[in-house]
Amino acid sequence: MESLRERYEQLLSRIERAALRAGRKREDVTLIAVTKVFPASAIRAAYELGLRDFGENYVRELERKLPETRDLAGVRFHLIGHLQSNKARRAVEAFSAIQTVDSARLARRLDEALAALSPDRTMQVMLEVKLSPEETKSGADPDELPALVEAVRSCPRLSLTGLMTMPPFSDEPEASRPYFQKLRELAAACNLPHLSMGMSQDFEVAIEEGATCVRIGTALFGARKET
Ligand SMILES: *Cc1c(COP(=O)(O)O)cnc(C)c1O
Repeated sequence: MESLRERYEQLLSRIERAALRAGRKREDVTLIAVTKVFPASAIRAAYELGLRDFGENYVRELERKLPETRDLAGVRFHLIGHLQSNKARRAVEAFSAIQTVDSARLARRLDEALAALSPDRTMQVMLEVKLSPEETKSGADPDELPALVEAVRSCPRLSLTGLMTMPPFSDEPEASRPYFQKLRELAAACNLPHLSMGMSQDFEVAIEEGATCVRIGTALFGARKET
């Protein structure tokens, strides 16, 4: 069995090689370690190796892990799962950034929740874009993007940094490339610098297509026992 350290080192060198192939630098790509399903001890172990950015899919799951991670200075939790408007308040309390804003209504709820927490609280957010017709995928329709970007930019406490997407699952990394290219074009059209795209099976293709943020679970922590 490989250790977390070995998997982390292999991952870093694969990220670096993909970045170099695309004429980019390793530092231009943020690695978000996706710890859903894994216990708080996995977050602590990855933190000790130097990881600072973590992705979680559910507000309640992070809330359960927070008491065991409070002492980790500089740790950042990114919400990468769908968020319902009625959980906006709890989401802004638990997370440092939210990648899955997909409606103007949710953006306004987050803005209000930040105002209620403290007068000068702000938060970086991304818009999740739905690029495939699969019914189960959340995210905003690309046609609605200009209006949604405008709505988020009018929320004084939200700082819109980029777009996030999740292509349909495939064992073939190249199958994701057209989706990553599309997200890059949409971000450029909206003047947004960041692209959150690429998971364990397709992050190298995502980096070649301009990802500034890859979300990796399995390649770091091993297979999840999803319930
Ligand atoms: C689970 C998840 C990931 C990580 O997936 P792996 O294939 O385990 O790397 C990335 N992004 C989102 C939105 C996820 O839900």
